[in-house]
This record gives sequence, C-alpha cells and structure tokens, in this order.
Amino acid sequence: ALATDTLTEIGAGSNSTLAFDVERLREDFPILKQQVYGKPLVYLDSGSSSQKPRAVIDAMSELLETGYANVHRGAYYFSQTLTDRYEGVRKTVARFLNAASDQEIVFTRNVTEAINLVAHSFGNSLAAGDEVIITEMEHHANIVPWQLLRDRIGITLKVVPIAEDGSLRLDAYADMLTPRTRLVAITHVSNVLGSVNPMKEIIRLAHKAGALVLVDGAQAVVHGKVDVQDLDADFYAFTGHKLYGPTAIGVLYGKASLLTEMPPFLGGGDMIRSVSFSETTYADPPHRFEAGTPPIVEVIGLGAAIDYVTAIGHDAIAAHEAGLLAYATERLQQIDGLTIYGTAKEKAAIISFGLEGIHPHDIGTIIDREGVAIRVGHHCAQPLMECLGLPATARASFGLYNTPAEVDVLARALEKVKELFG
Ligand code: PLP
Repeated sequence: ALATDTLTEIGAGSNSTLAFDVERLREDFPILKQQVYGKPLVYLDSGSSSQKPRAVIDAMSELLETGYANVHRGAYYFSQTLTDRYEGVRKTVARFLNAASDQEIVFTRNVTEAINLVAHSFGNSLAAGDEVIITEMEHHANIVPWQLLRDRIGITLKVVPIAEDGSLRLDAYADMLTPRTRLVAITHVSNVLGSVNPMKEIIRLAHKAGALVLVDGAQAVVHGKVDVQDLDADFYAFTGHKLYGPTAIGVLYGKASLLTEMPPFLGGGDMIRSVSFSETTYADPPHRFEAGTPPIVEVIGLGAAIDYVTAIGHDAIAAHEAGLLAYATERLQQIDGLTIYGTAKEKAAIISFGLEGIHPHDIGTIIDREGVAIRVGHHCAQPLMECLGLPATARASFGLYNTPAEVDVLARALEKVKELFG
C-alpha cells in the first residue's frame, strides 16, 4: 500500500461516508471538549500540529510518574527497562514505515532537524557544482538547509515548478535531472496545497539518473500508509507532533548503506564508541546521529501515537479524510467569492483558500470568535506564495477527529465573514 496510490484511490472514489465512528473516536481527544468564546472548539489546524489522544497523554505522564530515568546509561532497573521501551519504539517506527531494519530509524527533534542532518552529514560530501533539486511547494524546512549547503559548498539548487492546479510539473522535473544531480529533496504532500506528489515515479526517475531522494513526509504519514521500501526512498523524514504525538520528536529513516557511510551531525554523549583527546570513534547508526540525552518521554509518546493510528488503520483514516475533503471542497465552493488554491487530483485533506477582497488574517480572526481554528499566513512556504502571487492564504487542514458538521460550522463562519465585509 503506497501512500500516493492509497490516497488517490480513496480520494477519487469516495463521498462523505465515514470509515469509522468519529464521534466515539473524538472521546479519545480531551481537548475537543473545550469551548472557545463560548463556542465548541472546531479544530481545523491539524496540518500545523494535531491534537493528542488520551493514549499519548497517559503514556507520557505515566512514564514520568512511575518509570522515568535516563536511557542507555544506567545499570539500574528503571534505566534498563526504559531503554528497552525506547528502543522498542524504534522498532514500532520501523514497522510503521516498513523499514528493513530498526537500525535505519534515527530519532531527531522534528522533520526540520532530520533534513538538516542529511544536509550536513550527506550534504557535506557534495562538491561545488553538484545539483540538489527541490520544488516550488517546499516548506522552509526543505529549502533553507539546502541554501545553507549552497553557501557552504557551492552546490547548485534547482527548483521544480508547479502546474496551475498545484500538482508538480513532472515533465519539468524529468528534464532537470542531470549526471550532476546528487539529491532530490521533495515533500510527499504539500502543506499548503494538499497536492500528493507521485513519489514512486519521482524516486524511480532520480535513481535512473543516479541521484538519491529525501522525502519530507511531514504531511504524508498522517494521511495514509507510507512504505519506504516500496517507494525505494533513500531518506524519509517526519515529525511526531503532526501525527497525534508530542512535539520535539521527529524521525529520519535512512537506508542502512547510506547511514553507515555518513559522518555524525552533532557530537557529544551517546553517539560515540570511544573518546580520547587524540582520537574519537563513533557509534554505528542510528546512535551515531543521536548525540546527547534524547527526547525520552517524547519517544514513548510517539510510540503511543503510532500504536493509536495503527489501531484505527491507515486505510480507514485515509477514507475518512477523503470524505471530509470531498465534502469541504463542495461546501466551500458554494460560497461566493471563495477561491480554493490547489485542486490537484491527488490531494490530501488540506484546503487553502481566499475570500475575495478580504485578507486571510481577517478571516482567521473573525472565525476564531466562532470557535473555528484555522491557520492563516504563508504557512512557512513563502516561495510558494510568491509563485501563487499571494501574500497569504487561509488554510483548513483536517485530522481523523474532524466531522462534516465541523465543515458546516466553518462554512457558516465564512458566510458571516462575508456579511461583515459585505
Ligand atoms: N515539512 C512540511 C511539509 C511541513 O508541513 C512542516 C510543518 O509545518 C515541516 C516540514 C516542519 O515540521 P517541524 O517544524 O515539525 O520540523
């Protein structure tokens, strides 16, 4: 089950039929009972960061109350049992991504750090004139590390354009690959347009040209099944806080053959084999890339989050969100003067939009009074905004706990905005 294929199949054929009992599932998320300005919270900003189920909250607080210690260091019971649990989550993540081995899973602080890790440890092996390809739809996290590498080494950064509907110009991408292309760094799903990129084909073309591929999976792992072996991705990165897990924990998957050859990113405790003033040797991957005390509690929280979404099922989540996307698209299109940015056929449950003559910040502020939380601004994708010729958009992004009734609340709130500005 490949993420793009899964999302396409379900997205294309579905209506608003829900794949699971969303009302029952909402009970798992304590925050959804909150009110804002006396109105029920309608949380439509999961693309930025998702809310946390009780299972994640409990796993973290129980650990702190009953079993906390440092890992990899202590000879005592709590440290050893927690080290086993911590390393157990590595296995959970490996299964989640279908990695060949848990040794291919590096814990980072977030996807941003994972990309920076590759830009340093792999990137520093590049030479001036080597090419790295990114796209117009990248988050700043997948732009700036490559610009820093360009400043350090003199690589050439190439940018694949997007088509009118927000999909990637695959033809332009294919033309950009040359024998000097060393790495292609591409988002799996656009955080602004929702476009799902055909990763398998992108990777196939890159490999044919002799280049490696890093996939920014921040928005993809939350919406459907990702199989790194089926994709044949060289690096795949995601972030825990969008996947119903805690902040400050991210993951870098890297093929074992690549990680083994890569030098450390950060230096310190835990990432070494032995240290002396004359010579220091490094641990094998993945520990080589995990300097210092790791985010132990957050790793346990991430494990609980993955167990939670896995128990619901990727296909069920994808079907539910495809239903929401179809319904929200239809409902918002009925609003006069509303434009949806990003209409690619393969699309995740993220809708960027604008209302004619009204600044997105005004939209966000006014609908906040109705309890509706959306993101407004450039979404950490300023170059994409420039391509779209927009200063900002409003963005509703859906999670597994959202309902069609919440789409109706959003639509009514937007009608209100229009009345106010009418
Ligand atoms: N990449 C994409 C596509 C994103 O949507 C985000 C978050 O908005 C990031 C990268 C950065 O995530 P983090 O801040 O957790 O590193």
